[in-house]
Amino acid sequence: MSLKSIITKIPTVQKEFNIFTSYIENSTECPADSSPASGKIGAIKDNIATKDFPTTCASDILKTYSSPFDATVVSLLKGSGAVIIGKTNLDEFGMGSLGLHTTFGPVRNPLNKDWCVGGSSSGSAAAVSCGIADFALGTDTGGSVRLPSAYSAIYGFKPSYGRISRWGVIAFAQSLDTVGIFANNIDTISGIFRILDQHDPRDPTSLSVETRESIKDQSVKFKDRSKLKIGIPKEFVQSDLAPEIKESFMLYIETLLEKDYEIYPISLPSIKDSLSVYYTLAPAEAASNLSRYDGIRYGKRNSTKPDIVNANFFTESRSYFGQEVKNRIILGNYNLCSDGYKNNFIKAQQLRVQMINQFDKIFRFKNILTNNKPDHDIDILLCPTNLSPPPPINSITHAPKSNPLHEYMNDIFTIPMSLAGLPAISVPFSKGKPYGIQITTQYGNDEALLKFVKETV
Ligand code: GLN
Repeated sequence: MSLKSIITKIPTVQKEFNIFTSYIENSTECPADSSPASGKIGAIKDNIATKDFPTTCASDILKTYSSPFDATVVSLLKGSGAVIIGKTNLDEFGMGSLGLHTTFGPVRNPLNKDWCVGGSSSGSAAAVSCGIADFALGTDTGGSVRLPSAYSAIYGFKPSYGRISRWGVIAFAQSLDTVGIFANNIDTISGIFRILDQHDPRDPTSLSVETRESIKDQSVKFKDRSKLKIGIPKEFVQSDLAPEIKESFMLYIETLLEKDYEIYPISLPSIKDSLSVYYTLAPAEAASNLSRYDGIRYGKRNSTKPDIVNANFFTESRSYFGQEVKNRIILGNYNLCSDGYKNNFIKAQQLRVQMINQFDKIFRFKNILTNNKPDHDIDILLCPTNLSPPPPINSITHAPKSNPLHEYMNDIFTIPMSLAGLPAISVPFSKGKPYGIQITTQYGNDEALLKFVKETV
């Protein structure tokens, strides 16, 4: 499709699925050249800063915000010849799993308009799944690329933490935030990853050039192994897994066995703590990050109303946050207050380290960041991405009082990899069906993971 016909199609697609928070209305055709992403059409999650479009985080508090600069990922894409057609709708500040907590209204799933598309990178998943974009960028803090890609039957890749720059990506929980890639095929995912996988001196958590070199050596050894050993964590064998998802997962395992891969059950006992650890740490980081929205530095202020009420500061300015964001601020501050800090925050940090150590023990290759000694020789881990198919939008928006814990449960398979910073991809093994298989490997072996997917899915 030419750029012109895509631009003509956007308003119709937008009306149907509510994918964008803003989009281009006219543009000149770009001449095709030999740049790596030349002519590729991309969409960017609206928590990533762009000069050409507003950057709203789908929040009332930033609805009129325009960034004076492009995030590093956006500059790299533009420099590689990609055309950005718009910013995509999301759960406010990346907080959510369904694509419903947004000031722009719910995103609809192109597989079935009545279903949720998943979140928080909801519009990015829908843009690829409906075919208006070749690829889209999202952010994945606890599963926000992998879950919506599973609900949309497309590929969604969360690279190792630190490989893609976060400069210009609005922070939710920066010890977990990772930029991720959506596409309809693995070659596009690999191509976009190669463009973005670079050290960025402006992001203090971006992997150094030296660490990247060591990772490359390890990744080559990994890629050259002819038959990788596969592990299935028994803690991920969930009794409430939907039967059709179980069936699809078993089918994939059968194809691997036919290809002579060896598959073993393994155990990662700490996985059972991962939801509580994540929902202690992520809101704490979020509460701290969101304190900059005080109507002075960021956010808006109503000049006709006082912003200090009963000795509480920023009352009016912070009323522009949505309900889920407010829940996280309260939860996060509770976990950071003096009692909560020792009992919850520090405990969760300790459990996170324990989980990373357990992952390191089962893999064949060393984790370049921890230097832990491996105990086993597993190369690849497998589990489903989602527990159940996407819920109908109405079942949630019309529920009398929904319990946020139900939404948090959707992250059960994706959060452990986020806490450990591991590369993980959700692949649509059953074509056109709203569920995915999550494939993970040791920290830094991203290219080997993509190669394995290419050979087996
Ligand atoms: N659903 C998770 C949350 O709400 C993960 C979000 C994300 O990855 N941005 O925190």
